Amino acid sequence: MSEQSKTENPEQNLPKSDDEWRENLDAERYHVLREKGTERAFTGKYWDLKDDGMYHCAACGEALFSSDTKYDSGSGWPSFDQPVSGESVGEISDHSHGMIRTEVVCKKCQSHLGHVFPDGPQETTGLRYCINSASLDFKKSDDD
Ligand code: FE
Repeated sequence: MSEQSKTENPEQNLPKSDDEWRENLDAERYHVLREKGTERAFTGKYWDLKDDGMYHCAACGEALFSSDTKYDSGSGWPSFDQPVSGESVGEISDHSHGMIRTEVVCKKCQSHLGHVFPDGPQETTGLRYCINSASLDFKKSDDD
C-alpha cells in the first residue's frame, strides 16, 4: 500500500506562530502544550484508561505512546515506561519551580507533554513518563 501524502512535508501543516497555535487548540490544550502547563492529577481523561491503542500528540498527531507501555503509577496522570520510539519524544533538562526535572516534548512539533522520572517499573525500564492527558489524543486499536 502506498501512502498518498508521502510527497507532502507534514511539517508544513504545523502552526508557525503562537497565534496559529492558539487558534488550533482549545484553552486547556494550549496552556499545557504551548505554555508547559500541568493538568491537575486525577482530572485528565486518560489517567485511568486501559483500552488498547495509541496515544498521539494532541498538537500535531504524531504517535507517541502505546497502551502496551501504559501502567498504573498511582500519580493521577497517564504513565508509560517508554515512548513508542526515541524518534518521537525529546527530553530537555527543566530547572523550573525549584526542581531539577526532565521535560518530555513531542519531537515533531516541540509541544510540552510532561516529565520523565526515574521511579518507573523496575521490571522494565525503571522510567515513568508522566504525561498530561491534555497533550494526548487516544486512538483505539481497530480489532473488529
Ligand atoms: Fe506534536
